[in-house]
This record gives sequence, C-alpha cells and structure tokens, in this order.
Amino acid sequence: MSLVAGVVAVQGDVAEHAAAIDRAVAARGREVTVHEIRDAGTVPDCDLLAMPGGESTTISRLLRSEGIAPEIRDHVAADKPLLATCAGLIVASRDANDDRVDELGLVDVRVERNAFGRQADSFEAPLSVAGLADDEPYPAVFIRAPAIDAVGEAEVLATWDDRPVAVRDGPVVGTAFHPELTPDSRIHGLAFFENDEATVPAIEETD
Ligand code: GLN
Repeated sequence: MSLVAGVVAVQGDVAEHAAAIDRAVAARGREVTVHEIRDAGTVPDCDLLAMPGGESTTISRLLRSEGIAPEIRDHVAADKPLLATCAGLIVASRDANDDRVDELGLVDVRVERNAFGRQADSFEAPLSVAGLADDEPYPAVFIRAPAIDAVGEAEVLATWDDRPVAVRDGPVVGTAFHPELTPDSRIHGLAFFENDEATVPAIEETD
C-alpha cells in the first residue's frame, strides 16, 4: 500500500525533507506520495508528517492563520507519526520560551531558541541516537539550533554537550538538528516506522 506523507511547507527546507522521506520509504520497499502542506485540508489525508526547520515564529503564525495547526494536533492525537526538526521542534514544543512562538504543545519539552549559537556557529556532530537501526553515529547538522532545557513526559533519544537534542513524545520525534540535510535517512526511518526500540507503533514495516 502506498503511503501518503505531508511536509509542512509554509516556510523552511521542504524539498530536503521530501527527499529524505522518499529514501526512508524506498529503503523499506514501500511507495509514498509526498504533499507539501500550505493550506488546510491535506493533513487529514496524510499517514505521516514532517515539520521542517526555518523560522519558528513565522511557521507557527502561518500554521495558525491557515488553520493547519488543529489538523496537526488531530494527526498526532490519532497516533500518526510526526517528525519535527529544529524550528519544527520549537513549534511542536510545549514551551518555546518566546512569546512570538505559538506552540502546538505536542512535545513535552521546553526549548531555548538559538542555544547553540548563530548561523556562523553551525556544526556537524556524530550523535549516538537511541533506537537507530545500527550503531553508526548519526551525522547531525546543527544550524541556529535550539536546545531542550526541560523535559517532561518525553523520552530523550540523544544528547550533545550534555543537552538533549532528540526526543520522542508518543508518535512525535523532535530533533534540534536537521536530519533532512544529510543523505542518512535513519532519523526519518526512526520517526515513521516501527522499530524494536521505539516506544510507540508507527507505520508497520513490510518485508
Ligand atoms: N533559530 C530558528 C528559530 O528559532 C531555527 C533555526 C532552524 O530551523 N535552522 O526558529
């Protein structure tokens, strides 16, 4: 059965997420149609969603004004997977520590925006991420990344510099870094597909 994916496309690195979803799905012998989400009405058709990096203030404002925010909440309430990266994690968080961000409250963490420095301080770090398919470090790209500074019900999947940088809260995986910017699609696989160590059933894998 072909899957339907949505990439929130009001702002941010959309094409890269679509390509990473393609790779993760193809690696499992499945097919996927990827929709770019700019308006209300498409999210309810999606089996899985990605919310990219960009500018969290802009993304959250547009999600609200376009009526997409409640659809994303319903998607998660229906236990369907969401991967929220960088600004996407800030928007998905319980508390963005910034009045200009209208949080969706889907990941029980508080984040600190831009905690790892400015654009010029971007870096790549080899992360050990719980639940990945093999033990190879994950090459995580951080760009004006948030830090997670308080964790409620979420499970920490990876830390860097003693700070959580990847978490799972039910069907939502949130990363402070940009898994769409490397050819390694294991984080997309972890977010979207069932896996021995994942805490919730995502989409069933077929052989
Ligand atoms: N600094 C951005 C924000 O706070 C996030 C950066 C990113 O997504 N690369 O919204």
